[in-house]
Order: sequence, then structure tokens, then C-alpha cells
Amino acid sequence: MIIRAGIEYYIESKKLSHYANDKNGNFSDVSRSFDMQGQEVYVIIIGEATSRLHLGIYDYYRNTTPLLEDMEDELLIYNKVISPDTYTIASLTKALTLGNYENPEAKFEGSIIQLLNKANFKTYWVSVQKPAGADDSQITNLGLGADKSYFLNIKRAEGKTIHDEVLVEKLDKILLEKGNKKVIFLHTLGTHVDYKNRYPESFKFFNNEIPKTKFKKEHIYKEINAYDNAVRYTDYIISSVIKTVKKANAHSCVLYFSDHGEEVYDDIEFSGHFRDKLRTKNVYEIPFILWRSENYKEGKTMFPHLDSKYMIDDLFHSMADLFSIKAKEVDYTRSIFSEHFKERKRIVGDSVDYDNYFK
Ligand SMILES: [Zn+2]
Repeated sequence: MIIRAGIEYYIESKKLSHYANDKNGNFSDVSRSFDMQGQEVYVIIIGEATSRLHLGIYDYYRNTTPLLEDMEDELLIYNKVISPDTYTIASLTKALTLGNYENPEAKFEGSIIQLLNKANFKTYWVSVQKPAGADDSQITNLGLGADKSYFLNIKRAEGKTIHDEVLVEKLDKILLEKGNKKVIFLHTLGTHVDYKNRYPESFKFFNNEIPKTKFKKEHIYKEINAYDNAVRYTDYIISSVIKTVKKANAHSCVLYFSDHGEEVYDDIEFSGHFRDKLRTKNVYEIPFILWRSENYKEGKTMFPHLDSKYMIDDLFHSMADLFSIKAKEVDYTRSIFSEHFKERKRIVGDSVDYDNYFK
């Protein structure tokens, strides 16, 4: 395939490149802890640079999540979730693999996609992020481990941009394909800079209003408005995915989280996320929301720890739990959905206790 050859040419991180070819990994004793009868469809929406602070459903003062609020009673909304890092690769290479702060090197030892493949799920990776380049190829390698991977942004002309809704269109088609057990990962552009390029004209909702901010500058008002519009568009994307999955009438979950947060002139005069860590907590504080179908709820007892402190370097274990997969490598004490869940210290920036640092 042309796409794959092109990507391989650009691979800069050889250490994660085995994920592209080794579909099943080295997991042992893989089984289902609960076998659903009939069709299963799970969707993981990977958000981008979305700060929990800016979501209405998390009590932001602006109405940035009207559609999620309409279905609020169908959602589990987790209040204290953070990312382990402040940029995409560093965070997702932990969230999607066995790597965590106690054992960062384990990120080379197995991914959630491999585990799903091994457990006989059909896996899909659909991305609108660029597939190549130093910042992207590591995540691309993980995605290429899926049975099918699609990079919808590859032919994008310079200066043009596509919006996340192409992911929903693709999902709709995937759900029509054969197969009883599907897991689809959607890697969005979310609310990444440049914010005004992240949504279509019709989502220009906050326009000339002056947002609440201590930084009184015209260009800052514009940027905050654009960011909040991008959040409203993300609200539309998440709720559209849920509606699409509902139509499939399967045992289903849709999990949404952001890879990290973003500073948008909330605490300091700055917008974006940064690699020099620990400047503001908004780059760590992320939304984390789960929707479940009625028959999924009936079939599987879940223990929502909505106010427990959680860091998504352990997301591998939570996802395995969500899919009812057991393996020697899976540890349900690290799953926020499990009765066995245990809170633990959240160490960021290699050695800093997050909860002591940001009080
Ligand atoms: Zn990111």
C-alpha cells in the first residue's frame, strides 16, 4: 500500500516500530472475563488538547457542551483525571500501552490494540492527525497495529484543513462491515492550535463577546472564543459518535478522553501546551467521559469511581476491563472501572507528585 510505504519512510522512532507489524504482541493467558452474546462495538475517541476546565458539562461558565448535557443521564463523567504528560506522544505512548510512570520502558512491551487483536476483536484505527513526522510517527506505529488503519488527513493540501466529522462518517461505514466484535479508535484533532481551524463556519458561536479573563487584550478574547468554539465542535463530534453507535444496537461503550489538556489564558498569559512541564495544571486536567448501551450495563457490573484520582498512563488496564479482557499483564487494580481499583500517587515530570505540587 502506498500509504504504508510512505509512512515507513518517515519512521524516526525505531523502538516503537515493531507495533506496526507485530499484531498480537506477547500477552499470555488472554481470555474474556465476561463474554457478551451477540454483537459488540466499542469506540475510543482520543481527544486532542482539550482542557477539562472549558467544558460546560464540567461546570465551565459557558455553554460549550450542550449536546452532551442533553444526554447527561446516560454518561459517566469522571472528575479527577489527568494526563501523565503535556504533549501527544509522551501521553499516548503510555495511555495505549503497558508503559506507566513506574515502568516507562514497558511502553515497548505491549499495546491495547495488540491485546484486542489477540482476544479476536477486529480493530480499527482512524486518524485525522498527520501520520508522519517526528511528532506523529510513534502514534502512527501503534495505530498501524490495528487490523485496519486509516489516515484521513494524508492528502491534505497545504493550508487546508479537515474537521473531525470525517471520523464520524468513516465510523458509520465501519459499523456496516462484517464482524461481531469491533473496536474503533478515533484519533481526533480536537482543540489543537490553530483553534479557529478546528471547526466549520457553522460552529462560530462565540464571536465578539468578551470572555471572562484577567488578560484584557483583543487577540486574547478572539483566541479564547475560538477555543471555546472548538470545544463546542468537539461536543458535537462526541455526541454524533454516540448516536452513530446507538444505531448499531450492539453491546457498546464509547469512551472519550483528551490526550492532555491546554492552557488558554486561564492561569498565565499563554495559549497552547508545552514540553517544559509543570507550569499550569490546565495542561494535565482532562475530560474523561463514558457512555454505555443499556444491554452493556445489564451484562457487566461496573464500579464507577467518578471522584477518584486517576492518571491515564494506566488507561491500558481500564480499557482491557471495559472490553472484559483478562491477561497476565492486565491489572484491574489499575482500572478505574473496577471494584478492585486502587488510587495511587500521580507522578508527572518524572518525579513530581502532582497532587502535592498543584494543590
Ligand atoms: Zn496532543
